[in-house]
Amino acid sequence: MPLYNFLCTNCNYLAEYFVFGYDESVPCECCFSAEHQVRQISLPSKHSSWHSTGRYGANGYFSKALGKYVDSPQQAQDILEKQGFVCEADLPKHRWDDATEKHRDTITEQEAYIQTYKDKLASGKSKEEAVAETFTAQDALSGKLEQTFKGDTI
Ligand SMILES: [Zn+2]
Repeated sequence: MPLYNFLCTNCNYLAEYFVFGYDESVPCECCFSAEHQVRQISLPSKHSSWHSTGRYGANGYFSKALGKYVDSPQQAQDILEKQGFVCEADLPKHRWDDATEKHRDTITEQEAYIQTYKDKLASGKSKEEAVAETFTAQDALSGKLEQTFKGDTI
């Protein structure tokens, strides 16, 4: 799915947005600047909050998790912990690795489908034929298609 992380180089706010064109940009949720948005390599959605950059603006930043402005990641974490949340970075390492690994496998599977589709087009098949032969009824019925494409990648 067309979900991308954008890092705002104006205020250092990192967030996920849906975009549909490669060159399309979106205004920053924090400072509303569209000029400073830098698209990041796709990462699992859980990784997109402040602790993935460790940086924040001089006047605090908007915590998407909390839905409000906070002075620092430390303050955000204190609030989250009071609410019973645990910072992703504090979780056992294997949990994060498992999630990353699974995510990577999903991307690989998605890319395999897309490559198959492109190969079929290149071999002279029509788009309809290529779609039907790539995204087979068998894969749809077994749930494989849904499993592969329900995630937040591509
Ligand atoms: Zn910004």
